Amino acid sequence: MDTSSTTLSLPEAPRDFGFFLNGQVIAAGDRDVFERHSPAHDVPVTRLPKCTPDDLDRAVAAARAAFVDRRWSGLSGADRAAVLLKAADGIRTRLDEIAYWETLESGKPISQVRGEVGGCVGMFEYAAGLARSLHGDSFNNLGDGIFGVVTREPVGVVGIITPWNFPFLILCERVPYVLASGNSIVAKPSEFTSASSVILGEILTEAGLPDGVFNVVTGLGPTVGQAMAEHMDIDMLSFTGSTRTGRAIVAAAGASNFKKLGLELGGKNPQIVFADADLEDAADGVAFGIGFNGGQCCVSGARLIVEASVADQFAKMVSDKMSKIVVGDPLDEATQIGAITTDAQNSTILGYIAKGQDEGAELVLGGAALDFGRGQFIAPTIFGNVTSNMAIAREEIFGPVLTVMPFDTLDEAIALANDSNYGLAASVWTKNIDKALTVTRQVQAGRFWVNTTLAGGPELPIGGFKQSGWGREAGAMGVEEYTQVKSTHIEIGKRTHWIG
Ligand code: NDP
Repeated sequence: MDTSSTTLSLPEAPRDFGFFLNGQVIAAGDRDVFERHSPAHDVPVTRLPKCTPDDLDRAVAAARAAFVDRRWSGLSGADRAAVLLKAADGIRTRLDEIAYWETLESGKPISQVRGEVGGCVGMFEYAAGLARSLHGDSFNNLGDGIFGVVTREPVGVVGIITPWNFPFLILCERVPYVLASGNSIVAKPSEFTSASSVILGEILTEAGLPDGVFNVVTGLGPTVGQAMAEHMDIDMLSFTGSTRTGRAIVAAAGASNFKKLGLELGGKNPQIVFADADLEDAADGVAFGIGFNGGQCCVSGARLIVEASVADQFAKMVSDKMSKIVVGDPLDEATQIGAITTDAQNSTILGYIAKGQDEGAELVLGGAALDFGRGQFIAPTIFGNVTSNMAIAREEIFGPVLTVMPFDTLDEAIALANDSNYGLAASVWTKNIDKALTVTRQVQAGRFWVNTTLAGGPELPIGGFKQSGWGREAGAMGVEEYTQVKSTHIEIGKRTHWIG
């Protein structure tokens, strides 16, 4: 690995983070701790408490107390907005610190993480506006005797379970929206990438969020995460992660208090490229769509579906692009793909690469781990001759592995794109408006990109069709999802009596 242009050095010792309860960081004390090693550098970087179900109960009780006494839910939208705007400033101030620890825990390139954390500032600013504009509805057309009002209320105590691929970004696609309507939160980050969630707790308290409204319980998925899904006093749970764990959460919610669920699960997202597209742009977009974050994105464009007349030429263009992606030390400003975040994920990706070859797909590019002396890195990989029954075409690999399938007609392209259990995201590349609109209408996906990919921001809601999940996050819907709707009929004047 060329480390000559690395600008940041590794920590001399792992930094201890606590968990976050009632407005304070709580040190591990006599709890077990887990030590996170940088997946890029093989050195310990952070240590966090392994919280227990009792810690979770304390966090839920703190969140419940804050909700019941209305210290946050009882404030005006304007007052809540003021706190969210101060939190946005706080994130801006601590951007480099968040980016540094997140880079070390996740293996993502530091320049990318800075961009993501910068985007989180916008999430808080946008949600601040939503805190002020959230409103209900009224019915003045029910006759002279009745007035109808529809109001929105916060759901109550909201649990948020986040994964390791975008630890701060995914948290911030939820937290400001959940807070905007007055809810309280207990968050559980992935055990691999917990530091930035604890830092967010400090930022929110500093910004004036009342104690108990935001809590972070660090710990393991099968213990603390599962206990959240089963908890009788969590009113709603937002889960982002694997479809497998999503199913366990649905079962646990059904077996406990029927808590409302938001689920953002897996994806196997198509990139449909027509021959009339700007192929240079499309090649860059397809390479970006699968290369960004090492393909560890639920919305990665993992399936290239390309018009047969340009398929060979276009695959070569994408291959040329992907062969130039800079893979390496995530602390190096020039790096575009860093390390694979978890050991298990590294094995999963390499397993799928082997399986693709066993299944008879043609390895066009990459296909191996990259040895930089330390850390776990995988070369950007392309498979040709892929058929839709192969595991590499159907299952979420969650790595920098692109499959290529040609099509002859528009209908065939749409059928191939929809031939998936998932429906999270899709991209179409064409200069023909009819094709672009037809594909956008007929392909089942919650997020669509036309002549671009992976674009996003605080305004547009995100979420999936089919087995990619339930509900929407961000945008105005991202606030509404975390509210209950109440309908109130108000009688005007003297009642017409039922009896006598
Ligand atoms: P998981 O679904 O296991 O992890 C996601 C989150 O759920 C983490 O915070 C995890 O905690 C927590 N969790 C784990 N088990 C439970 C449980 N029983 N109850 C409640 N919460 C739980 O994903 P993996 O890390 O195992 O990744 C496996 C695959 O999932 C990947 O290969 C990828 O395909 C997909 N994935 C999809 C993501 C997306 O953005 N949609 C994000 C991450 C993964 P902890 O990490 O502490 O175990």
